[in-house]
Amino acid sequence: MKVSIAIDGPAAAGKSTVAKIVAKRLNISYIDTGAMYRAVTWYCVTNGIDCQDEAACSAIISNVHIDLKLDDTVWCNGTNITEAIREPFVSSQVSYIASYKDIRLEMVKQQRAMAADHSVIMDGRDIGTYVLPDADIKIYQIASIETRAIRRYEEDLEKGIQTSLEEVEDELRKRDYIDSHRDFAPLKPAPDSILLDTSYLTVEQVVEEIINIVKKKMGEE
Ligand code: C5P
Repeated sequence: MKVSIAIDGPAAAGKSTVAKIVAKRLNISYIDTGAMYRAVTWYCVTNGIDCQDEAACSAIISNVHIDLKLDDTVWCNGTNITEAIREPFVSSQVSYIASYKDIRLEMVKQQRAMAADHSVIMDGRDIGTYVLPDADIKIYQIASIETRAIRRYEEDLEKGIQTSLEEVEDELRKRDYIDSHRDFAPLKPAPDSILLDTSYLTVEQVVEEIINIVKKKMGEE
């Protein structure tokens, strides 16, 4: 049976961590749509294009060939950019790139094609509202800003990214603001989504919760 699961929510709410585990447990594909916007941002920055120049960024979209591989590595035009796209120079610019309509339309086309004929769990900001409005299960995953900042700060430290807790928190707040105030497909819960506050839950508890939601929903069909 084909199943599609959408997980949306603000930055660093733990969406990709749990989505990867759920994908393995259910033996379905995981699609990290944020990595796609990060890849376009990486391309613009490394090619000297100003990420706040909508026309210049939109003009290069057909040059950017993104490959999300099964081993969770991210490639752009044959370069492995898995680690580079998590660097602050990408995180600080990505929400500008993601606010440009022409860039979103191209990303959404590719995301829908990836979900067209097999089961997926896809995480992002507009999956339940715009990319897959008919998804079988829609989760809106949140956590307090303090929890999200600490989680992301610790992840950054593990990756060797030099930053401070204040910088991380400021960047998350800024991205959430731009993501939820853009005109086209902003971050917001789909009316038929299930709200999951993970502030006081472990990764394992969130995974179990989502698996139970999927089993209940699919068992009913
Ligand atoms: O998920 P992640 O935090 O890596 O996403 C990076 C950025 O990409 C977000 O802050 C947002 O600007 C953008 N994004 C988006 N729509 C998606 C996924 C990500 O606008 N579906």
